[in-house]
Amino acid sequence: MPTHEESQKIEAVQRILSRVTDDELLEALKDERELFSRSSEAVMRVMIDELVRRKVYPETMPEGNHNDVYAMVSGWGAYWHIYRGTIECPHCKADLRDSKIGPPFLRQIGISDRDLDRITGWQCPDCKGTWERD
Ligand SMILES: [Zn+2]
Repeated sequence: MPTHEESQKIEAVQRILSRVTDDELLEALKDERELFSRSSEAVMRVMIDELVRRKVYPETMPEGNHNDVYAMVSGWGAYWHIYRGTIECPHCKADLRDSKIGPPFLRQIGISDRDLDRITGWQCPDCKGTWERD
């Protein structure tokens, strides 16, 4: 059950929904998500459902992606559905987009530093060349 405050926010979003552009709606969703612990899942669902209805977000996920659209927004952000940044290998220029899983996933392989316990670089699956993480 949404709280009273949430219900008011949902109503406010629904009132402006027909007047906002796709880009404005994506920005509003990004802002809501970035409230993190204070963000409202119910409000985000209203925006996400509208983005699916407008076909900004796909209705069905690519075969290799087993998340639903809500999980994608929550885990990867409002712009998960488009590739941004480097999408080709800096060495062999191979296209690193993963056509099976779709955006935002890339075919590059993470190189992790065991001491730092995080990914510090990438490797191209085609030429095996490596580069540092941005
Ligand atoms: Zn390469």
